[in-house]
Amino acid sequence: MTTPTTALSLLLFRLSFFCTAGLKLQSQASKILKFAEFLELRAGAVAAGCFGVVARLDDCRAFGAGAFLASLPCAPASRQHNPFALRADHWRVAMRSFIGLPAPGATTVTMCRKCNNQLDHGHGHVGCGAGSATSALTRAATHSSTCKKGGFKTARHDAIAAVLCSMYRAIGGVCEADHEYGKRAEGDAAARKKANPCTLPSNAKVDVVFYGLADGDQDLYIDVRVACAESHEVGFKEAIAAAEKIKTDKYAREVAGISQSAFLPFVVGSHGGLGTCAKQVWALLVQRAKLVAARDWRQSWSAMTYQQVWLRRLSVVIAKQEAIATLVRVPLVTRQAAMGVAVFGEGEGGEGGGAGYAGVRVAAPGNGGC
Ligand SMILES: [Zn+2]
Repeated sequence: MTTPTTALSLLLFRLSFFCTAGLKLQSQASKILKFAEFLELRAGAVAAGCFGVVARLDDCRAFGAGAFLASLPCAPASRQHNPFALRADHWRVAMRSFIGLPAPGATTVTMCRKCNNQLDHGHGHVGCGAGSATSALTRAATHSSTCKKGGFKTARHDAIAAVLCSMYRAIGGVCEADHEYGKRAEGDAAARKKANPCTLPSNAKVDVVFYGLADGDQDLYIDVRVACAESHEVGFKEAIAAAEKIKTDKYAREVAGISQSAFLPFVVGSHGGLGTCAKQVWALLVQRAKLVAARDWRQSWSAMTYQQVWLRRLSVVIAKQEAIATLVRVPLVTRQAAMGVAVFGEGEGGEGGGAGYAGVRVAAPGNGGC
């Protein structure tokens, strides 16, 4: 005979089942509606000939893009010693870029302080939307990706390689990155290049070697590239595929000739969306995290937290570099102006003088690399 307690437990169990099932259905329905809205928005952009906007929409909805939006913006002092913290003003500038807007206070005709062209430089020469106001805004918002001066691309590229290395080391992996090796190695340039594990027999260099990460414990060689589909107003998938082909043609055959080695390009969109091959690299890292967590109780990462945390960190470093590259190109602003609580030319700082923008001065990269 069923006791009242047992009956109550049974009822609660059934209720929780129906509640969970209901919530799941609600979540599913919400996802379908959001996707339908997205498709309608995208179709509108296609019909209007705004292919830069279409590319941005595709990049921003790709796996990994925009993970920084969920991070908590922090004050300048608290970011010290934490490479994965995002300052509030950088967060805001990166968020504006994410939705296709230039830095606060900048317009399409603002002059770039690095190349001395208008921010919408190249507007009217690309894509079916050439000449439209939207195209000009897209060019202005992505100017740092097309600017020939200032070294932004190298800084962003190296930051991505560094995150991937930290990610592998966090689960006990051993790897070498070309940009890190170059900084610490001693000897003349020729000797350093020869001793660098990223140097292939032909003297070409990949960006990172992950020892034992590929299938069958093969060493995985990767080369990082950022494809800005938006600035060239081409399709996101096409831009990623073209960049992956360039890298694969350049390195895959040679790496295959090295014992126990495999090659994959790591191509992401300028908003951080992972390409097909980058997702394969990512899956290998997450798979390794699962294996390590299963065999070593001291390993605190679960595969889920590992993926979430590192996806956000990767997104944060891309957002941070994007924000710095955007801010160094527009007239000096104070942090207050970037945060929207001061007006250009008023109060402290401003274009005319003042303390300037400390973060930009500190982080401004050197010449070359674009
Ligand atoms: Zn420029």
